[in-house]
Amino acid sequence: MPKVTHQEPAIEGWFAADEAGNPYLTGSKCPQCGTYVFPPRANNCPNPACAGDALESVALSTRGKLWSYTENRYAPPPPYPSPDPFEPFAVAAVELADEGLIVLGKVVEGTLAADLKVGIEMELTTMPLFTDEDGVARIVYGWRIARAGDDAQPSDGVGALPHKWEVAPPACGAERRK
Ligand SMILES: [Zn+2]
Repeated sequence: MPKVTHQEPAIEGWFAADEAGNPYLTGSKCPQCGTYVFPPRANNCPNPACAGDALESVALSTRGKLWSYTENRYAPPPPYPSPDPFEPFAVAAVELADEGLIVLGKVVEGTLAADLKVGIEMELTTMPLFTDEDGVARIVYGWRIARAGDDAQPSDGVGALPHKWEVAPPACGAERRK
C-alpha cells in the first residue's frame, strides 16, 4: 500500500467543506421552480412542469432523516479489488431536511444495519474510499448517526482510515484524473 500523502475528493464537485471543516453536499437548484438536484448539474430542471434550463449551485442540508438503509455483506466481484478480509458496511438513503432530496451514501465504519432505524437523524461526513497508486487518499461523502445537539463538529471521517478500499467507480464516469 502506498504511503498516504494527502487527500482529494474521489469525485470533484459533489461536496466541499465550510470554514470550520464541516462537509456539505453541493447540489443544484432551479431558480424558477425551486427544485433541487443532486448530484449537481448546470442545466435541465427535472420538474416536468418547468421549462427552466439553468440551475444554480447551492449548498445542501448537512442533516436529514434516515429514509431507508441496507448492509453490504458481499465483496465486490472482480475486476474491483476489495480489502481482505472484506468488511461489511451499511448504506443509508437520507432525506435531506430542507430539500426533501434522498441522498444515498456509505455509512461510517463501525455503524451497521443493526445500529440504524428508519427516521433517525443522520448527518453528513466524509471518509476515505481508497488510496490510489500515488498515495492520494480519495475521499467520499457518507453518513453517520447525528450527534445530539452539535451541528458544528468537524468531520472525524477524514484521515481516519488510510487502508485500501477500492470499489466500483461511479457510474457517471465523473472520476477525477491527475
Ligand atoms: Zn424548475
